[in-house]
This record gives sequence, structure tokens and C-alpha cells, in this order.
Amino acid sequence: MKDTICAPATPTGGALCIVRISGPQAHSAVRQLTDRPGPGLRHILDPKGNTLDQAIVTLAHAPRSYTGEDTAELSLHGSPYIVSRTLRLLCQHGCRPAHPGEFTQRAFLNGKMDLSAAEAVADLIAADNHAAHQMAIAQLQGTLSNTLANLRNQLLRLNALIELSLDFADHEELPIATPQDIDTLAADTQQHISTLIDTYTLGRALKEGIAVAIIGEPNVGKSTLLNTLAQRDRAIVTPYPGTTRDTVEETIHIHGVKFRLIDTAGLRSTRDPVEQLGIQRTHDAIRHAHIILHLTDQPDQPDTTDSTDQPHSPLFTLHSSLFTPRPGQQILHVRNKIDLNITPHSSRSTPHSSLFTLHSSLHTPLPISAKTGQGIPRLLQALYDAANLPQNADGQPVINNARHLHALQQALHALNQTRQAIADQLPPELLSQHLHDAIRALGTITGDTITLENTLSHIFQHFCIGK
Ligand code: GDP
Repeated sequence: MKDTICAPATPTGGALCIVRISGPQAHSAVRQLTDRPGPGLRHILDPKGNTLDQAIVTLAHAPRSYTGEDTAELSLHGSPYIVSRTLRLLCQHGCRPAHPGEFTQRAFLNGKMDLSAAEAVADLIAADNHAAHQMAIAQLQGTLSNTLANLRNQLLRLNALIELSLDFADHEELPIATPQDIDTLAADTQQHISTLIDTYTLGRALKEGIAVAIIGEPNVGKSTLLNTLAQRDRAIVTPYPGTTRDTVEETIHIHGVKFRLIDTAGLRSTRDPVEQLGIQRTHDAIRHAHIILHLTDQPDQPDTTDSTDQPHSPLFTLHSSLFTPRPGQQILHVRNKIDLNITPHSSRSTPHSSLFTLHSSLHTPLPISAKTGQGIPRLLQALYDAANLPQNADGQPVINNARHLHALQQALHALNQTRQAIADQLPPELLSQHLHDAIRALGTITGDTITLENTLSHIFQHFCIGK
């Protein structure tokens, strides 16, 4: 990494643009473009000595910089012309354009942050709501890394115990771990890893938004509700990016958490294959939703067979597909149009013509009027509560990255094998191999590698051999 990189760190089109430079030539390259050395307000000069811009120059010295290298930042005026001229001049003075993420990659390679923190930088930049921001900040500040470091240390200690029993089996004065000790420690670590794995769904939900499918018979007011909820949030509603959807989706924020409301209004019986595809998408949206908001406009629901209290019995039938709530999927029953006086079982469709048949026993539905806004604040709170977000005040890390999930699953699997090997009374060398797999898997999250020194330092740290 002897070359020096440069890139604009801010998007074009603003009043100012920050150009960042990192590497051994950073300071000298900047010196050659400026009228005077050092940091501060400087003229940026073209090769003929004409002023191109007036900029604020900031310098940082290795290793006390973001990348761990000599770095410079030029705070230029945001004209694309000025920025591209400056970048070209920097390249004439020994820099080259940086690749995406290269500054943070250098920070990682220079030991300024671990891999999970580097990933958190990308999450931080992308965070568009309070919850995602909190997660990224916690990860950047090392909440996850610290937890993983503790787990890894526990496994290294376990491994040290095993290696010790291999190498010093005949030294009776040394504390040799029994298979039971090793199993207990492995089980404890497994428990911690499982807890982390369990936070993945939450982590994804916080990052991507909690998906809420609004279901119900035609005309109960699903679209009206979606609009009402979205309007209340108009100031911070962002159009959800992506391709055209057959389901209508709006993003709202409740207490800083992003919710994606999916209107399934388009559901109807059809033979048109294209429309059937759309219906399939709606089914998928319902299946993947975290919360199902079941909307009615009747004081109670016709055709309710109070079937069973089994937690995951089919919830409803839609186009002859059975929907069974996934574990953790919340159902919120809401009754709309309380501004009207509807008598039970009055107006609408007969149960037999219904596209949608509810099977589960009814909870007391939350009364609202999508039209007048009555009950909407309570509904927002109910949605937030149904998201069932654990309080993160105790600083427990939450994972939201598929790479981390995969690594944790691998570690869990390797620990299972370790414990199986103990149960089968296999030789310690084999235990050690499985443990190494677990340690390596955890290390891939933070970018740590397992070395002889790791193992040795744990042996010496805990057992004072040769004293
Ligand atoms: P959807 O088919 O479930 O999406 O239902 P819509 O949102 O299209 O609403 C159907 C009809 O009910 C429309 O005429 C709405 O104006 C009306 N509507 C929706 N919500 C309310 C409400 O809270 N009160 C009253 N009085 N009418 C409502």
C-alpha cells in the first residue's frame, strides 16, 4: 500500500465538496497545489499559478488518521469543474483515484478498525432512520466486536485447556480440564452465539423496515388507511426504492423505527396470468411480513370459526391458499369505520362469496376510523408494540448482516461437533480441530485470524507454565 489515493468524499452538486487524500504522498501532493504549506485556508493553484479555488486544507499524520496513513482533506467549493480539475492535478502529483470503500479498507488493513466496524461505516452512511443509525453506531463503536472477542477468548481458553491436557498430560500439578468442563464451556458459548443469531431477524427488520401487510376484504378501507398513515408521516415519507410493485407500499416512521406498509388491496380472483403473478407477490408479501394488520369494518366478523388456540394454526384462507403465521409474526386486528354505525353482519358480501376467510379466534379489534383519523395514534403505538423491539439500552449487540449470520451459524455448527466429539469420547486432537473451526468462523466477522500466539498467550495467561 505504497500508493496515494484521492477521491471526492461528498456527492457533487452541493455548495462544498470534500476531496480526501490518503497515502505517503498525501501531504506533498497537496503542498504542490497550494500557495502555502500546512493546514488552513489556502489557494488551490493550477500549473500556471492561477487560483483555481480557495479551500480549507486539513492534514492528519500517520498513524493518527482515519486510514492510519498520512491524510489530507480539501474542502473545495462544490463546482464539478473545480473538483475534477483538482482531482486531475492531484493525480499529476503522485495520487491515483480511489476505489469504492478503499479509505475504509485501508483503515481496516492498518488496524484502525475491525471488519465488522468497517461494515458498520457503510451501514451508518445508509442509515435512514433512528433505529438503523443506532445499530450502525453501536457496531462501529465495537459492541459486536467486543461480544465476539469475549466469545472467541472463551473458545481460545477452551482450546488452551485441551492442548494443555495433550501436551502436559503427565504433569499432575497442572489444572487439566475434564471433558465435562469443556462441554460446559462449549455449551455456554453456544448459548451466547444462539442469542446473537436470534437478533438477526430484528436487525434486518430495523435496517430494512418492519414489514406490515394490511389485509382484509375489499372495501374495508385498506387503501384509505395506508394513505392516512402515510399522510401523518408525510414529512419523512420516502418513496421506497425498487422496481414497480404490484403491492402498494409506503414507508412511515414510528418512534424512529421504519415501517413498510404493504397494501394488499389488489387481490381478486383472476385467470389473467400476469395478474396471478401479482397475486403471488401479494401472498409473498403477507408471508414475509413481520406484522399482519387485519382490517375489518364490522363490529364482529362473519364466518369466524373459533377454531383453536394453537399458536400457529392457519390464520386465514385467501384464494384457497392457507396462511399460517410464521413464528414471531404478529397479527393486529383493527376495526375501521367506527365513524359509521354499522350493525353486525349488515351490508356486505356473504361469507361464501368471500375471497378471504378468517379462521383464527378474534381478539378484540382496535377501533379506528381511517377517514376521520380517530384511533390512529393508538394504532401507531400498537404497530410499534407489535414489532416487539427489544430495548437495546443494555447495549446488547444486534446483527443485521448475512455474512455475520453465516459465520455465527458455522461457529455454532463447529461447537455442536465439538460437543458431539466429547460425547463420543473422541481423542482431544479432534476436539481441538472442531474448536479451531469455531474460532476461525467467529474470527471471520472481525477479521481476526487464529495463530499459535493466540493459543500460547492463552495458555500462559491462565496457567503460568514453567514457573
Ligand atoms: P379497500 O378496498 O380495503 O382498499 O378499501 P378503500 O380504502 O378503497 O375504501 C373503501 C371505501 O370505504 C371508500 O369509499 C372509503 O372512502 C371508505 N372508507 C374507508 N375508511 C373509512 C372510514 O374510516 N370511515 C368511513 N365512513 N368510510 C371509510
